[in-house]
Amino acid sequence: MAKSSEVKVAVFGRAGVGKSALVVRLLTNRFIWEYDPTLESTYRHQANIDDEMVSMEILDTAGQEDLLQKEGHMRWGDGFVLVYDITDRSSFEDVGPLRSLLEEVRKPRHVPLVLVGNKADLEHARQVATEEGERLAADMACAFYECSACAGTAGTAGTVAEAFHELCREVRRR
Ligand code: GDP
Ligand code: MG
Repeated sequence: MAKSSEVKVAVFGRAGVGKSALVVRLLTNRFIWEYDPTLESTYRHQANIDDEMVSMEILDTAGQEDLLQKEGHMRWGDGFVLVYDITDRSSFEDVGPLRSLLEEVRKPRHVPLVLVGNKADLEHARQVATEEGERLAADMACAFYECSACAGTAGTAGTVAEAFHELCREVRRR
């Protein structure tokens, strides 16, 4: 019989980077243009990852929490998706401090995370080079994906799922 496990995933990143769109894409394979930015929700998603049924509980944060709420979310999660928008440099600059806070809240434990540069469909408006994302991920010793919650191509939609699956693997490794 296949093993099964539960992984709590919290999605962090500045408001507007596309956290809700990514989660909806993962859950429904659809893109929804407008999502209440102040909304914070949890979702359940099951996936077969390396022959194991993994049940994810996903917290889509609003991205405008105060410190206390943020720390609460960081204690709740088993793994974390840190999202920035490749067309918004300030959202990229938010990642470092988020990661530092995670380390502080979770220390001395290892913090499983993945870095996601979203809105890769907006190449013309890009402000953060792919190499910069790669470098940051290398610094944080985590996996890195550039993806788009809205691009219709199967390739990018697959990347969204791959990012979440890789995070679950990272959680399970520990
Ligand atoms: P959140 O605040 O991080 O949850 O961001 P949302 O999911 O609400 O998305 C913010 C805005 O960015 C919305 O207008 C979305 O339609 C748009 N958006 C989200 N993901 C993408 C993407 O991959 N590409 C493009 N072009 N727009 C996106
Ligand atoms: Mg949202």
